[in-house]
This record gives sequence, structure tokens and C-alpha cells, in this order.
Amino acid sequence: MKKIIVAIDGFASTGKSSLAKLLAETLDYTYIDTGAMYRAVTYYALQQEPQGNINQERLILNLDQIKIHFEYTHLDHQTFLNGVNVSKEIRLSQVNSEVSKVAKISEVRAFLVSQQQKLGVDKGIIMDGRDIGTVVFPEAECKFFLKALPEIRAKRRQLEQIEIGNEESLASVLASIKERDLIDSTRIDSPLVKADDAIEIEVSEKSLEEVYQQLHEHIIKTIS
Ligand code: C5P
Repeated sequence: MKKIIVAIDGFASTGKSSLAKLLAETLDYTYIDTGAMYRAVTYYALQQEPQGNINQERLILNLDQIKIHFEYTHLDHQTFLNGVNVSKEIRLSQVNSEVSKVAKISEVRAFLVSQQQKLGVDKGIIMDGRDIGTVVFPEAECKFFLKALPEIRAKRRQLEQIEIGNEESLASVLASIKERDLIDSTRIDSPLVKADDAIEIEVSEKSLEEVYQQLHEHIIKTIS
């Protein structure tokens, strides 16, 4: 079977990464979580500023100091920043609230998009994010765009946060998700929009298993 690029874009907490991991495992593809890359850059920027206010100019100047890589174990995906495993830290609420502001910076996007494109040269990848089907791999053979009601996504996100020991009220998670949606969808550089040729899936009423089957079926048809 031929190796292709699968792009899964969409709103925060629609299950993109769970689906991408499962599909990568089944198809023996590499999973690339581009959100983790924007999160790692944000975490780096926060570490540089003891007051917690990100200095955009300084971040842009220091981009060449940032090395991100992934390590894979069965169904797991660890993110390393300059050789240190930051998989937990990049999910902290401080990173959640700053990441969309960092992802608006064109220099940061150019820096990460070129790395993402290199990761895809041999194909056989499933990449999730916001601009994969529109900017990173407009030629991807399979493109999906996931959406769901903000309230459902906030509940999911709150459960994920509890699992990693971050207690946050539903109202605060919902507010943070809505703020990120707005910044991601309205930014000038590479806004979160559906690619014309992406398959849109509204997942609010669907189980992960149902969505997985839908994506899997479409990918198998494409590669066979
Ligand atoms: O997918 P995740 O929620 O971890 O992404 C975190 C943030 O990173 C998004 O809200 C968005 O601001 C940014 N992002 C992006 N482009 C991508 C992936 C993530 O702008 N391809």
C-alpha cells in the first residue's frame, strides 16, 4: 500500500490527537502532534521570563536556540525541548492560556512549519494541528477537519486536565477554549479554517470509536 500524508485539523479538544495516535498505530504511520511543538515554544518563552509575560521580540531572536524532538513508545508520544522531556509541562494551564498568542507570531509559525514539512518528506505520517491541510501539507492525500460544541470540548479538556493533576473549573476551561478558538480562527497568518478539500466531521454526538472508523475507512480507500 502506498504511504500518504494524513492531515487532521480542527478545534481544540475534538479528539484529534487520540484519533491520530490510534490511526498511526494501526497503519504503522508516524504521529506528529504539531500543537505540542507550539506548546514547547510557549513553555520555552515562559521559562525565559520570570514574570510570566512573554517577550515576543526576545522569543523571535532566540528561536534558533529551541530544539524540539519527539520520542515514541507504544501509543505514547513524548515531547522534548532542548533534550528535556516536557510532555507534562506543556499541558499546564499557563501554557494553555499563552499558546495561541505565541502561535500568532509569524516567525514562530515559519520556524515550526519548516520543521513539520521536513518530518513529512517520506510520507507515512499523521499530523494533527490547525493548518496542516491548508499550509503545512496542502497536497496531503487525506484531510479531515473536526469540530464540536465548545461545552462538550470543555468537558473533555477538564477531564484530561484532572488526569494530569490540574484541577480547573468547567467555566474556566470553557473560557480558555473559547479564547483560543477566537485567536486561532481570526489570526492573520494561517488561521484555523477548513481546507476546501477536507472532510468536515462534527463530533459532538459521536464516540471516539465512530469517528475513528470513519477516518480509517476513508484512509484505507485512499491508500488501496
Ligand atoms: O492542539 P493543541 O490544543 O495542543 O494546540 C495548542 C495551540 O497551538 C492551538 O490552540 C493553536 O494556537 C496552536 N497551534 C497552531 N497550529 C498548529 C497546531 C497548534 O496554531 N498546527
